[in-house]
Amino acid sequence: MIGVLALQGDVREHLRSLTSCGAQARPVRRPAELAAVDALVIPGGESTTMSKLADIFEMREPITERIAAGMPVYGSCAGMIMLATEVLDGRPDQRGFDGIDMTVRRNAFGRQVDSFEAPVRLAGVPGEPFHAVFIRAPWVERVGDGVEVLGRVGAGPAADRVVAVRQGNLLATSFHPELTGDLRLHRYFVDLVRDRG
Ligand code: GLN
Repeated sequence: MIGVLALQGDVREHLRSLTSCGAQARPVRRPAELAAVDALVIPGGESTTMSKLADIFEMREPITERIAAGMPVYGSCAGMIMLATEVLDGRPDQRGFDGIDMTVRRNAFGRQVDSFEAPVRLAGVPGEPFHAVFIRAPWVERVGDGVEVLGRVGAGPAADRVVAVRQGNLLATSFHPELTGDLRLHRYFVDLVRDRG
């Protein structure tokens, strides 16, 4: 059973992708709902809003604790920001869940290219590169020793920027596979959750 953090963002798209992969999936808004899932997806949206709502819904501590205890989590875009231990160009009061030892820069690709698409090849995911969609996306500027870089932008002005990482059971991408109907990343995550179970 995989939860999708439903404080804000593109929750429905992730629920659909997960169930299409054969997983059970449900929205998670409250601590009791979190306790009932084996893993969590943090969707794209707006990390500053998500941060505020995480406090209002009293979800910050429970999520941080579950992450520390090894719960698998996949974060896309704003979800990547929420998983990072350090955020550049964030709001001073925004806080994440201390998941992946990395520094991400919020809205990194800049105003000129608010949204764009580029090919991204992911280590461990065979086949064509992802047709990756970036929407006011972060990139990763630093990773700690335990963090594996899974993917970089394949072409264009932002080529080689790190946009997909994994640290143990924690997975994050700057882009939104839930918006393009490419299920390979959700399958990768569902397999990770199954292997752990
Ligand atoms: N810029 C957003 C943030 O700071 C992320 C955008 C997205 O998730 N598409 O959270």
